[in-house]
Amino acid sequence: MNPFVEIENVTLSYSDELREPAVQDLSISIEEGEFSAVVGPSGCGKSTLMKLVTGLLFPQAGKVRVDGAQVDSPLKIAGMAFQNPVMLPWRKTLENLLLPLEIVSPHRERLRKEKKAYHQQAEELLKTVGLEGCGDQYPWQLSGGMQQRASLCRALIHEPKLLMLDEPTVGLDPVATADLYRLLRELRNGGTGIVLCS
Ligand code: ADP
Repeated sequence: MNPFVEIENVTLSYSDELREPAVQDLSISIEEGEFSAVVGPSGCGKSTLMKLVTGLLFPQAGKVRVDGAQVDSPLKIAGMAFQNPVMLPWRKTLENLLLPLEIVSPHRERLRKEKKAYHQQAEELLKTVGLEGCGDQYPWQLSGGMQQRASLCRALIHEPKLLMLDEPTVGLDPVATADLYRLLRELRNGGTGIVLCS
C-alpha cells in the first residue's frame, strides 16, 4: 500500500538561484492516521514543507502525493493551523471557525440550509479546547493562547483526514500546552493523521 503522504525528492526555491532552496531533495513518507513530528531550527523549511503538503506551494522538482493523488491545488482533506493564528478581526470567533466550510465542498453548498447544525458543531469544538461560549467574541477579545486554540478548531471544522500544525504551542502556557496535547491524542485515537512542526 502507498503511504498517505509521499514526498519524493522535493526541492523548492522561493526566488533567485543565489539563495539556498528552502527545501532540497527531501523525501518523507507518512502512513494514514500516523502522528509525525518535524523538528528543526527556525528557517530550516518546516513551514514550507507544510505548504507543499497542503497544496499552497508547488515544488520545482520532485513529487508530492497525498491520499494517492498528486497535490496540484489546495487540499480539501487537510486542515492547517499556522504558527500565528491569523483570525479575521472583523468576524466573530465562531464565524472564523466556519470560514473553511464556506470554501470546501460539500459543506459550502450545505452551510446555508444546515446553519444551525454547523454552528452547533463549531460550539462543540470550541468546548473541547476550553473555549465554551467564546464563539460570540471577536478574536481580538481573546488571549493569544485562546486564539491559538480557536485556530486549531478552525483547522478541524471540516473533519480533515490530515491535520498540519505549525509550532502550535508557541505562546501557550504550560496548562494550555498540556490541554492541546490531550486534544491531539484524542484526535489521533480517532484516526486523524497529524503532522506537527516544531
Ligand atoms: P521554518 O518554518 O523552519 O522556520 P520556513 O519554511 O519558514 O522555515 O523558511 C525556510 C527558508 O525559506 C528560510 O530561509 C526563509 O527565509 C525562506 N522563506 C520562507 N518563506 C519565504 C517567502 N515567502 N519568500 C522568500 N523566502 C521565504
